[in-house]
Amino acid sequence: MTRVIGNGRKETRGTQILSSLTLMLLLVIALLPSAYCQSNDRAGIYSTPEPQNLGILQDSIRSYIKSASYERGLAEVADSAKSFIESRYTKVKKPAIVLDIDETSLSNIEFEYRYGFGFNSKLWNAWVKEEAATAIKPTLGLAQWAASHHIAIFFITERSQISRNLVADPTVVNLEKAGYPDWKRIYFKNSRTISTSAFKTSARKEIESEGYTIVANIGDQYSDLVGDFAEGKFKLPDPMYYIP
Ligand SMILES: [Mg+2]
Repeated sequence: MTRVIGNGRKETRGTQILSSLTLMLLLVIALLPSAYCQSNDRAGIYSTPEPQNLGILQDSIRSYIKSASYERGLAEVADSAKSFIESRYTKVKKPAIVLDIDETSLSNIEFEYRYGFGFNSKLWNAWVKEEAATAIKPTLGLAQWAASHHIAIFFITERSQISRNLVADPTVVNLEKAGYPDWKRIYFKNSRTISTSAFKTSARKEIESEGYTIVANIGDQYSDLVGDFAEGKFKLPDPMYYIP
């Protein structure tokens, strides 16, 4: 249907529908609560595109960690890893799993909160020496299950070995305090000249050269997981930092 309106333009059925929609939209906007009014207050303020504000981002990360979402994500990945290991470990020679340490086996949320997600190596080493990191529970459960099924556990970590005496090293003591069962070996990176993924891949290669089959490799960074020498690769959530 077409009709002529005041200024001589023809109004079609389509424009009538559009007018009705515009009216409805205006009504909805008028009824919106204060959230809309707040952003409406910013109308007329000149600005340029900018990335997400750091303070707002930190609040959303804290909310995510505080909510059940982070814990749920960790449990979901650990459960998937366990199902995969269960389907494979009786079929391979010398089954093994590889675990990263930070935000995979041990949680450093207390350190992250203490320094507002900032990092420097002096503060980090002091934190490691506190031996206060708590277990990531789904990973601890997986490690305990693996140990009870005679699956070898290897840790490969970005951390450095601090104490010459391995059994007194704060990372080793912290893992024991957190309840981790007997493991075969820990590989510390100890070097800034090799990339994380190259270091971790070469450690896995060495493990497999000893006859082990790494059924699952579990970490919170993609750099823990890229590369060969693992049948299954499992990435835990980590909203706090990124290691290339
Ligand atoms: Mg990590």
